[in-house]
Amino acid sequence: MADPDCIFCKIVAGDIPATIVDEDERTLSFMDIAPATRGHALVIPRAHAPDLLSVDGEDLKAVALACRRLAGRAKERLEADGVNLINSCGAMAWQTVFHFHVHVIPRYEGDPLRLPWDPAPGDPEEIARAAQELART
Ligand code: AMP
Ligand code: ZN
Repeated sequence: MADPDCIFCKIVAGDIPATIVDEDERTLSFMDIAPATRGHALVIPRAHAPDLLSVDGEDLKAVALACRRLAGRAKERLEADGVNLINSCGAMAWQTVFHFHVHVIPRYEGDPLRLPWDPAPGDPEEIARAAQELART
């Protein structure tokens, strides 16, 4: 269940400190030590799973609901203007801690965060080819 080398499992076990802001039977939410904005929190399942592809389905649902709770509180209590939920799946996608987690990042008008890509129209044929692969059952 727990991975002895996993820093987030150690937080779940209470072996290393964290500033916990929400918890339920399946999830724990705590402040990120390197916040992108004021109120940046992480939501994790208590049970260890490395990433989005391996996390238990019921845990994933519980994490989603916890994310929504925190997003609502960020808007109500921190007066955030919006919220980003971010999950990185795999090292190539910037994942650095391999215990599934979702970043709940409150957004404020004028904050310095920017999209990491420049949205621009794509090649329709290539979009269609990728779609075919994704839609194949
Ligand atoms: P990611 O790069 O998506 O895997 O996110 C990992 C996040 O965990 C980073 O934003 C780190 O700042 C955060 N982090 C790492 N160690 C801790 C810790 N002990 N307590 C709180 N946040 C942490
Ligand atoms: Zn873990």
